[in-house]
Amino acid sequence: MGYPGAGVHYPSSTGDFHAWFSTDADCLDYLEWLRWPEGFVCADCGHNGGWRMGDGRLCCEACDVRTSVTAGTIFDRTRTPLTVWFNASWLFSTAKDGVSAMNLKQVLEIGSYQTAWAMLHRLRSVLVRPGRERLAGRVEVDETFIGGEEPGLSGGRAKGKKALTGVAVEVREPKGLGRCRMAPLADASSQSLHAFVRDHVEPGATVITDGWSGYRGLSELGYVHTPRSQRAAEARGDDPNALLPAVHRVASLTKRWLLGTHQGAVDEAHLPSYLNEFVFRFNRRTSRSRGMVFYRLLELAVAHAPVRYGDLVLSSRPRSTPPTPPRRRGKPPSLDRPPANRPWRASGGYVG
Ligand SMILES: [Zn+2]
Repeated sequence: MGYPGAGVHYPSSTGDFHAWFSTDADCLDYLEWLRWPEGFVCADCGHNGGWRMGDGRLCCEACDVRTSVTAGTIFDRTRTPLTVWFNASWLFSTAKDGVSAMNLKQVLEIGSYQTAWAMLHRLRSVLVRPGRERLAGRVEVDETFIGGEEPGLSGGRAKGKKALTGVAVEVREPKGLGRCRMAPLADASSQSLHAFVRDHVEPGATVITDGWSGYRGLSELGYVHTPRSQRAAEARGDDPNALLPAVHRVASLTKRWLLGTHQGAVDEAHLPSYLNEFVFRFNRRTSRSRGMVFYRLLELAVAHAPVRYGDLVLSSRPRSTPPTPPRRRGKPPSLDRPPANRPWRASGGYVG
């Protein structure tokens, strides 16, 4: 398949979206097409070809293994109807700043906060494409504290409740920002900072940092290292915050997004997945079609191994300031609906 097209491979508008995916069966068929655009491929033996059984599962014609479209993806054994998943994915992709779990719970009438929370975290877990390219060209790199709710920690390298986060941003000539990357750091040692740069920046790139000693040695790793001195900037009377303007901009956008969409309700254990979501949004901010973002999200979702609820809450439990979920985490109602045939006309008129 060539480059995916609007109105053909993905919905070009919200109108398209509702027309395409009004039933759970249509959603399932779309996932099947996304997963196997050239027809069923057996995950066990790699054979291309199979037949559909009465219950909708597929059977490999070579090795007889039976599987479902969602098996082995993040939708594996989900109790949430696919229409709900698709609406959540559409909101996630089309809302400029995304959605919070509370938001999703209300809009899609999902019974429990926990279910909505876990859906969003499953979507976040697929956002880092394996083997994605590293940043290149001119790249600003810095570390900053992100997360936590207390304001007033005035940067620096002091320890706080916030998590130390590495930020890398491509700088375009003559102006403008390219892609960014963010990841938590254990500390500001050269070991941590060098590992961050190697993970996220292509060798040969120009890496612009402040004068911190932790960045020394980047030239030996194959980068063109351009340190900028805070002290020199201060001596010139320049704002030290303007030393690395691209990183400063991305870090403040991230903080604003965490406080806005998520009201700062992000704990340290889950910060990495929120950072991944921010990076995903930032790097697609100029995408002409939000439907394309939806397509990429589901494409990643069917290629990603299942994520168990236990793994999502492993390091810490989600915040449940909203009402405690019922003990039985009931399955959310499907959004699957037949055409309603204008019920207001059949009502015999409104007498107020
Ligand atoms: Zn097989």
